[in-house]
Amino acid sequence: MADATIIDGRALAGKVKDDLTRRVTALQRQGKNVRLDAVLVGGDQGARMYANNQAKACGAVGIEYVLHELPDTSSESDIIATVDMLNESKVVTAIMVHMPLPDGVDAYEIQARISSDKDVEGVNPANIGNIVFGKRSLVPCTALAVMEMIESTGIELQGARAVCVGASTIVGKPVAVLLMQAEATVTSTNAHTKNQELLTREADILVTAAGVPNLITAEFVKHGAVVIDVGINRVKGKDGKKRTVGDVDFEGVQGIAGFVSPVPGGVGPMTVAMMLRNTVQAAE
Ligand code: NAD
Repeated sequence: MADATIIDGRALAGKVKDDLTRRVTALQRQGKNVRLDAVLVGGDQGARMYANNQAKACGAVGIEYVLHELPDTSSESDIIATVDMLNESKVVTAIMVHMPLPDGVDAYEIQARISSDKDVEGVNPANIGNIVFGKRSLVPCTALAVMEMIESTGIELQGARAVCVGASTIVGKPVAVLLMQAEATVTSTNAHTKNQELLTREADILVTAAGVPNLITAEFVKHGAVVIDVGINRVKGKDGKKRTVGDVDFEGVQGIAGFVSPVPGGVGPMTVAMMLRNTVQAAE
C-alpha cells in the first residue's frame, strides 16, 4: 500500500490567509478596522513567543495587533478590568487572553468575561455552548483547524466512524461535538480508556489530542484512515537535541493511514490561520 497523503497544514493555512487578506482589505475600504487586542499577564516564555508570532501573523494579513502586558502580580479583578475596557472599546474588534494566568486567577472567569462576539479563540462558554446547538459562532481555533483539515481530504463525514483521543474542553470535546454535528459516529477516549486500540482501529477518522508522544502507532490505525495529530510534545532525539513531535508515530502510521497530518507543519499553522479567520469574522 502506498504511503499516506500528508495533510500540509502550512499550505492550507496559506490559502486561508490569502482569502483573509482580501477580506481585511474589503473591510478597510468600507472604513471598518480589524483589530485584535491580546492580554498577556506575567512573563511566561511560551506565551510571549506565541504573542510575537501572533503579531507577525496578524501583520501579514493586515490585522492591527495590540498587546496589553500586565504584571504577574495582577489579580483576577485587574485582568477583568482590562477585558471590560476592551469589551467596551469601539475600535477593538477582537480579544484574546494568553494562557497561563497567574496562580489564583480562574481562567474560566476571565474567558467568560470576554464579549462573545469579540472572543476569537472561542473560549467563552456561550461560544463553546453554541457548538452543541449546531451554531458555528466563534469556534475554538484548534477544533476549527482539525475540522478544516479533515474536510480537506474530501472524506464523507456523514456515517463515518470517528474517534477523538483526548477530551479537553478546548480541543477534544469541541472536535467530538463538531463531528457529531456532521453526523459522524463519534467515540471520545481519555487517559482512563481501556483497550483504546480496539476503538481507534475502527476509526475512519482518528483525531488525537492527548499530549503523549508515540501514543498512536500503526497498530492503532485502520487502513486508509484520516489521522489528525493535534499533540505538541518536546522530546529528546537520538542526537540529544530537543525536537517537537505529535502524539502519532508518523513514520509507522504513514504506511497504513490514507491521510496523516505532520507535527510540526500540521494543526499548528492551521490553528493560527483559524484564529485570524475568527478575527476577521468578528470584525465582519
Ligand atoms: P489536556 O491536557 O487539557 O487534555 C489531554 C486529554 O488527553 C485528557 O482528556 C486526557 O484524559 C487525555 N489523555 C491523556 N493521556 C491519554 C492517553 N494515553 N490515551 C488517551 N487519552 C489520553 O490537553 P489539551 O490542551 O487538549 O492538549 C492536548 C495536546 O494538544 C497537547 O500536546 C497540546 O500541546 C496540544 N495542543 C495543540 C494545539 C495546536 O494548535 N496544535 C492546540 C492546543 C493543544
